[in-house]
Amino acid sequence: MSRDIFIGGAWPYSNYFLHVGHLASLLPGDILAKYYRGKGDRVIYVSGSDCHGTPITERARKENTTPEKVANYYHEEFVKTFNNVGFEYDLYTDTMTDYHNKYVQKQFSRLLDNGWIYEKVEPAVYCEKCNKFLSDREIVGKCPNCGGVSTGDQCDECLASLDSSEVLDKHCKICGSDTVSKDNKHLYFKLTAFEKELQQLIIDRKNLWRKNAVGEAQKYIDTGLRDRAATRQLDWGVDVPVKGYEDKKIYVWIEAVMGYLSAGQRVAEERGIDFDKFMSDNNKNLRTYFVHGKDNIPFHTTIFPALVSGLEYNYRLPDYIVSCAYVNLNDEKMSKSKGNLLTVNELLERFPKDTLRFYFTYLGPETHDTSCSIEEMIQCHNKFLVGQLGNFVNRNLGFINKKFEGIIKEGIVDKDIKEKTRKAYDSIGEAIEKAEFRNALSQILEYISDANKYYDSSEPWVKVKNEDLTEFNNITYTCVYIMANIANLIKPFMGDASSKIKDMLSFKEYRWEEEEPKGDITIKDLDILYNRIDE
Ligand SMILES: [Zn+2]
Ligand SMILES: [Zn+2]
Repeated sequence: MSRDIFIGGAWPYSNYFLHVGHLASLLPGDILAKYYRGKGDRVIYVSGSDCHGTPITERARKENTTPEKVANYYHEEFVKTFNNVGFEYDLYTDTMTDYHNKYVQKQFSRLLDNGWIYEKVEPAVYCEKCNKFLSDREIVGKCPNCGGVSTGDQCDECLASLDSSEVLDKHCKICGSDTVSKDNKHLYFKLTAFEKELQQLIIDRKNLWRKNAVGEAQKYIDTGLRDRAATRQLDWGVDVPVKGYEDKKIYVWIEAVMGYLSAGQRVAEERGIDFDKFMSDNNKNLRTYFVHGKDNIPFHTTIFPALVSGLEYNYRLPDYIVSCAYVNLNDEKMSKSKGNLLTVNELLERFPKDTLRFYFTYLGPETHDTSCSIEEMIQCHNKFLVGQLGNFVNRNLGFINKKFEGIIKEGIVDKDIKEKTRKAYDSIGEAIEKAEFRNALSQILEYISDANKYYDSSEPWVKVKNEDLTEFNNITYTCVYIMANIANLIKPFMGDASSKIKDMLSFKEYRWEEEEPKGDITIKDLDILYNRIDE
């Protein structure tokens, strides 16, 4: 029976290019989607660019342009990069679309109607000359810790995060006037009301969530949940659908995370699927995966589930939290400020996309932080992709091209190898479903390595020399059978090689199931899977 699979990839923030940290943490989503599609399951795999929030408005101000232009520029870049690295979302959208804005406003009103959002009046920073409440970034003042210049929420010098009430000597960044304190109203989300339910969720999902997710979620609850402001003094974001809130926007944390639902709903509508039924907790065929970096854990394990509960649609709370640890570069933390942030575009100039997908899965920051390096990427490419996978396919087919004009005669496939192949689908599939991608990949490598051993120990070239063509055809056909199945097994990880093998040998379209070639096969233009990269 076909299953329903929802996969939410994290929404990258649209103010800089995608870097290797994004790639490592988001790849699992695409591997899952390709795998489940191959199983014939009904998959909804969505993500998009997170385009609101202050860093984008800040950047726009510095570059003398609009937040929309900044966000759009990087959004377009993300689309290209994801495409170049082989991602196949069912929908990759952004938070600026009409659809998302309307969806979020509707759900916001619903949370309000359900009693999970309330109004709170607090003193806030006001400029009497500009006649408005100032956003954090419109406030300039002195840091209470170091005396340096700070905005309303962060010190520029010691980088401490601040609350605008602590900042000293506040004045308006727009007109330079001193500010006054004046009562301002905001809407708050009652996160505290969900504590019991969230605690239960952590217990229920103990074996499905990554260890770091269970730990971080527990820590987040143990330090004490607090109700969160749901509106913010800003002019860039989704409008608050409540009268009297025209000068504010919905806080980005509540809005961006709802993107999973708005994008999922949209895909469902386009395909004629009832999204409420699909996502229903009563849908026993449903599995949901949320894929992101470990810094995003609290959002996906507590805040998002609380919102979903508060919406009262009876949607499933996250089944699998696939939260990646960090990837460092040459054992150093990467950051924009250090200038050592390795972008995916830079890597794509030097490596095939298969290599990047392979390497960042092989590196597998699944349980702890890891470090990547260009040298290791090259070594991995040469050792595994060229030396193992490419070698098996190309020396087999090269030999047949040379000796038999590219015609592979039908033979009998080795029984043990068939048995092993069927088992490989089950056991690799199981690892993928449990989000153990390193494990899955190492089983694939073992399958390929065994294939090379089979070829070497069978010595088909000796059979040709001895004119034992029946035996030669059996060995060769067994190798072709292995290739057909390698092409399926590697598809979620290394799509280019999979397609090349399938094209050369006219195999069936990818499915996650044993493939048995039939009849004689003619090799179409022999293609080298991968070229060596000089170290
Ligand atoms: Zn002012
Ligand atoms: Zn400071």
